[in-house]
Amino acid sequence: MAKTNIGVTSNNIFPVIKKFLYSDHEIFLRELVSNAVDATQKLKTLASVGEFKGELGDTRVYISLDKKKKTLTVTDRGIGMTADEVDKYINQIAFSGAEEFLDKYKDNAAAIIGHFGLGFYSSFMVSDKVEIFSQSYKEDAKAVHWSCDGSPECDMEDTIKAERGTDIVLHIGSEFEEYLEDSKIEELLKKYCKFLPVEIVFGKKKEWKDGKQVETDEPNIVNFPNPAWTRNPQDLSEDDYKEFYHQLYPDQFEEPLFHIHLNVDYPFHLTGILYFPKIKSNLDIHNHKIQLYCNQVFVTDEVENIVPRYLTLLHGVIDSPDIPLNVSRSYLQSDANVKKISNHITKKVADKLFEIYRDQKDEFIEKWENIKLFVQYGMLTDEKFYERATKFALVKDIHGDYFSLADFIEKVKGEQTDKEGNTILLYTQDVDADYAAIERAKQKNYNVLILDGELDVHYISQEEQKNEKLRFARIDSDLLENLIRKEDKAAQTLSDEQQEGMRHALEAIIPETDKLKYYVSCEPAGVEALPIYLTQNEFMRRMREMAQHQEGMSFYGSMPETFNLVINTSHPLIADLVSKMTSEQVAETPDKESCSCDKESCDKESCSCDKESCSSDSSEPSDSPVFKTIYKLEGEDERLHQMLDIALLSAGKLKGEALANFVNRSLNLLG
Ligand code: ADP
Repeated sequence: MAKTNIGVTSNNIFPVIKKFLYSDHEIFLRELVSNAVDATQKLKTLASVGEFKGELGDTRVYISLDKKKKTLTVTDRGIGMTADEVDKYINQIAFSGAEEFLDKYKDNAAAIIGHFGLGFYSSFMVSDKVEIFSQSYKEDAKAVHWSCDGSPECDMEDTIKAERGTDIVLHIGSEFEEYLEDSKIEELLKKYCKFLPVEIVFGKKKEWKDGKQVETDEPNIVNFPNPAWTRNPQDLSEDDYKEFYHQLYPDQFEEPLFHIHLNVDYPFHLTGILYFPKIKSNLDIHNHKIQLYCNQVFVTDEVENIVPRYLTLLHGVIDSPDIPLNVSRSYLQSDANVKKISNHITKKVADKLFEIYRDQKDEFIEKWENIKLFVQYGMLTDEKFYERATKFALVKDIHGDYFSLADFIEKVKGEQTDKEGNTILLYTQDVDADYAAIERAKQKNYNVLILDGELDVHYISQEEQKNEKLRFARIDSDLLENLIRKEDKAAQTLSDEQQEGMRHALEAIIPETDKLKYYVSCEPAGVEALPIYLTQNEFMRRMREMAQHQEGMSFYGSMPETFNLVINTSHPLIADLVSKMTSEQVAETPDKESCSCDKESCDKESCSCDKESCSSDSSEPSDSPVFKTIYKLEGEDERLHQMLDIALLSAGKLKGEALANFVNRSLNLLG
């Protein structure tokens, strides 16, 4: 047997390969099967141009296990190799500075394998010895037997082989016996080889008979050689796309909503099919990821650096030989081709959605709730997608009708524009909770949107930023009159002291909690509003909601939730309480530190008052008492409490003991 030295500068490359590629060693099977497929396709090409005139015969690729001999064999009937070719392609691996390179890329097995065409050698990751038996298609070529146990010296000899093509025999190492298990090999073939273009056979098909699985005579073909994405969209029906979806994700029972067939020849090559899945829950999202292929060979389902993040919510396949697979992840993001691919996909996805919106509006609307999260996520994270999506991103009103935002603004702006010229879009996150407010809005001819989606708050804030004259206001954030202010506020009828008296009276009975904080104020809100009502600042509430999704905003999330309790001073019940207030004159000693200073101290730098006005006021001695009128409301706790509870109840904030007390008090009042 002739000894030949494989062309590596390093003394013994195999321990190095084993060590550095350890984590990804299962890819050996992908490498061997794709070599076998390549050899088969090359032969078919030669046959089609008349360079090979023999019988093609069975051109399937066979994978077989021999548990006794502990071998795994990959057999093809492709072009085969002559002894010279084995020497050239297998022995002479151009390998300079091997260790240096391996060291540099030790965390990136794909880079090492791809860069050096180490595909075949990856078989040494799991084998103690590898043999090649090959018979070239070339006339008069002798069959060759090559064998190597991982040392740089390999054996090569002539042999006899009946069939054209190549057998690669791996003698699986003792640590890797899992690769002698049928189930493991089937799993790997399904993962990496599912859509390779030549039929791949692994054992016989099994079927259930008398409660157990038995082998049939039929070959077990593990792949789908003509996957839908490689075919012409014109030749494919809706059902073909659905069938392919289930080939891709056999454990997915839901049907996809839409598909997009990608097909680009210039300036890069890319094919693929993307699907909009039915997202039922957040957990669902990443169960079925987009898979990346390179000429039908599975590469990865980690596509984050290749498509924009929001597109990773989609399902499907992208196949491109132009995505550099052998580089680090950070390099991928800056690669010009990857950027072009990413932009192209974004555009295609947006165009397709617009097309469906334009041509099949009913269907689009029907599916909107399922794709809303995806569209909004895209709009929030990708400016280009935002611009395209404004045409088809929809909002829903309380009547169940859908509009593009621009159309909705057009529809309501006559009624819902305030005196400053801002158009106010009212919305609810809970139709039941806001029932009364919604009814009041309807009476005023206002429309109300339902924005109860996970990203709605982010979405509306984005729209406000883009559109200066647009505001969104949750319908319970204030009285409608304040939200869409058409005229100046009514003048306050109570004096400051009276207001203070009312505020104190109410503050004294507000239930104390750590999580909620109430601020009390007085406003003449008209006779139609409740005597006391609750509002919540739109901005603060939104910040709290956004904090749930965004890192770095937890500050808002940890603050107590604040509400405003407004005493409606134009309500007759409040007017009656005000009339029952008692007043007294209380002498107050002026606070020297703050402002009532005399001229002398005013000269000191520490005084903050306005010196001129100070000098004119300074005729009075500094410690003479100032009289102030204090208003008090006494003996009205029950009525005030009742009004407070009605305010809290209307806003869904009356719970537990406070609610029980309210019920009892109401019953007492009836009696
Ligand atoms: P790559 O496939 O990236 O070129 P490999 O190390 O996997 O690198 O293979 C080196 C070469 O050996 C191939 O390019 C091909 O010419 C030859 N080869 C490998 N496997 C086969 C096979 N089953 N049949 C014919 N030629 C093969």
